[in-house]
Amino acid sequence: MVSILWLPIVSTSYILFIQSAKNKMCSILVTGANRGIGLGLVKHLLTNQSFKVDNVFATCRDKGKAKELMQLESNSQLHILEADLIDHGSFFNLASQVSNIVKDNGLNVLINNAGISSKFTRIGLVKSEDLLNHFKINTIGPIMLTQALLPLMKLASEKNQSSTGVNKAVIVNMSSILGSITLNDQGGFYPYRTSKAAINVATKSLSVDLKNNGILTVSIHPGWVKTTMGGPNAPIEVEQSVNGICTFLKNINKSHNGGFYDFEGKLLPW
Ligand code: NDP
Repeated sequence: MVSILWLPIVSTSYILFIQSAKNKMCSILVTGANRGIGLGLVKHLLTNQSFKVDNVFATCRDKGKAKELMQLESNSQLHILEADLIDHGSFFNLASQVSNIVKDNGLNVLINNAGISSKFTRIGLVKSEDLLNHFKINTIGPIMLTQALLPLMKLASEKNQSSTGVNKAVIVNMSSILGSITLNDQGGFYPYRTSKAAINVATKSLSVDLKNNGILTVSIHPGWVKTTMGGPNAPIEVEQSVNGICTFLKNINKSHNGGFYDFEGKLLPW
């Protein structure tokens, strides 16, 4: 039992704890946020009260074409920035735009969501340009963007020493079950499968390299989702996938570092 003499000390520390928790900023950047899962994530982060985010950075290739995303622009938490994942040289400029807003609070979460997928391809029909393009956007883009944003993620991690997961620093690489080597029993899809398997390897390396910085890295398969990429026959709506991803994200801790999960947090084989 707490003695009456201790009460002022206990209540003062409690107030200080609450105040410091309140002062903590949480900033998240989502790529490919003008449609599909990326747009769904941004909408969820802006409206869902259980996930308290101070800054949502939503990137798209062309603001002029991102009508639905631009309609959310009046939201003061939202910062819409342009980024083409093929233009790796522009990432440091993007990082400095983010830095101007988050200052020394850094960036807590990076969701490398943007991606492309060509049609089902058998070996006889694979084109080298298609392979290269998939690697540029699905693999090299996320790795180089992570490199550019890393100083900001390290800041966030240092600023939140006693926290974990999204309150500290997390990198999410949006992967696909089609990138799993173990679960590949259908073949084909060379450009997409190889680029997603490669980003999974990058997830593992980042989880090792950044462990001592307190930055966690995971790959997530969002499910087969009804988007332009998933097509009209996909069984999962964007909202369901995004709900699952955000619930999982909220609960990410050290035990998840370097793993591959589905949108409901189920561990998947590489
Ligand atoms: P969509 O095709 O609906 O959206 C793709 C997004 O990526 C768009 O915002 C698009 O922008 C952006 N993008 C494409 N190329 C570039 C580029 N060069 N630079 C910047 N952004 C680019 O896909 P989903 O929302 O369905 O997919 C999101 C992620 O989830 C992807 O990584 C995908 O591989 C993964 N995934 C999706 C599945 C599904 O069933 N839907 C299943 C498994 C994984 P723009 O409009 O300018 O083209």
